[in-house]
Amino acid sequence: MCDGWARRSSRNKAIVRDGASRKRSGSRSAKTREVCVIWRSALSFASRNRLSILILHRVLPKGDPLFPNEPVATEFDELLRHIKSTYNVLRLSDAIERLQAGSLPRRALSISFDDGYADNLSVAAPILRTHGLPATLFITTGYLDGGSMWNDVVIEAFRGTKRSQMDLTHIGLGIHPLASIDDRRVAIERVLGHIKYLPRQEREQRAQDVLHAAGVTLPAGQMLSRDSVRELLDFGFEIGAHTVSHPILAKTPANEAWHEIVESKRQLEEILGRTVQLFAYPNGKPQEDYVGEHVRMVREAGFRGAVSTASGAASPASDVLQLPRFMPWHRRPFKFDLLMVRNLQQGCERTVA
Ligand SMILES: [Zn+2]
Repeated sequence: MCDGWARRSSRNKAIVRDGASRKRSGSRSAKTREVCVIWRSALSFASRNRLSILILHRVLPKGDPLFPNEPVATEFDELLRHIKSTYNVLRLSDAIERLQAGSLPRRALSISFDDGYADNLSVAAPILRTHGLPATLFITTGYLDGGSMWNDVVIEAFRGTKRSQMDLTHIGLGIHPLASIDDRRVAIERVLGHIKYLPRQEREQRAQDVLHAAGVTLPAGQMLSRDSVRELLDFGFEIGAHTVSHPILAKTPANEAWHEIVESKRQLEEILGRTVQLFAYPNGKPQEDYVGEHVRMVREAGFRGAVSTASGAASPASDVLQLPRFMPWHRRPFKFDLLMVRNLQQGCERTVA
C-alpha cells in the first residue's frame, strides 16, 4: 500500500505549479507517511504469531480474455514488489518450523503454487528470482511431460471450438451458446461445476467427451516436465506433492486415495533425488474435498506439513497438516493489504478431525 501511495504522492509533487499547491502536496505526503506508519503497525499487530500462505496456480505471460482476473507477469511483478516491501517472505518449510517454534517474524508470508503449470517456470519463477523471493510448488505428478488436467481440457475445448454453440445433451451437460467470450466463460463454469465432483475416471472421460464434441486439439506444453521440476528445485524453489491425478480425495476409495498420496511423493522423490515433505490437498476444502482419514494418510506417508484451501492464517495452534491458504488477489496494493488484514482477523480456520 505505502509504496503505491508514495509513487502517487511523488507524481502529485511533480505537477505542482505554485506555492499553495506545493504546500498542499507537502502536507499530503506527510499525511501519507503517517497513514503508512499506522497501517504497517496495524498489519504487524494483526500478524503476530500468524503465517499467511498465498495460493496461486498460474501467472500468464499476457492477459487471457477468458480469465481477465488471472494474474499476468506485469501485475505479478508489481505484487511481489509490494509484498517484498511490506511482508517477511519465508520458504514454507522454514515458516512451518518457525510457526511451531513460536519464532515467526511479524507480517510472515509464504507463497505457493498448485498443480504444476509450465508458466510457473517460464513466467513466475524469473519474477520471483528477480525479487529474491522463495515459493513452494505443489506438483500433480500424473500430468508432467505433456499431460493436461481435466479442467484445462474443458477450458481449451470451449476456447478453441469454431462452433457457435455446443450441444452436450448426449453426455447430460446441456446446450451452450458460444457467440461471445462471456458465453464461453459461462459455459466453462457450468460444465466444470457439473463434472468436478464426479468420480475421477468419469470426470476425465466427460472432459474428453467435451473436447471431442468441440473438435479441438489440445495445446501442448501446458504443464511442467520432469526436467523443469528439477530445474525449479535447482533455482531454489521448494517442491511439494499434490497427488498423481488430482482426485477429490473425499470422493475416492481409501486404497486409491492412499496410492494417490504416497505415489506422488515417491515419484517426486525419484525425480528430485531428495525427500518431499510438503503436501497440498487437491481442491483443498476441508470436509468437502478431504476428511480426517486423508490427514492421517498424509501423516503416515511421512509428510511434515500440508496445506488446504480453507481461508485464514495459521497460528501455533493450527494443525500443521491442515494449514489454511488464501489469495487476496487485487491489483491495488491497498486492497491487497486490506484483504490480508481481514484474513488475519478470521477466527479458527476450518479443519477436519
Ligand atoms: Zn490443485
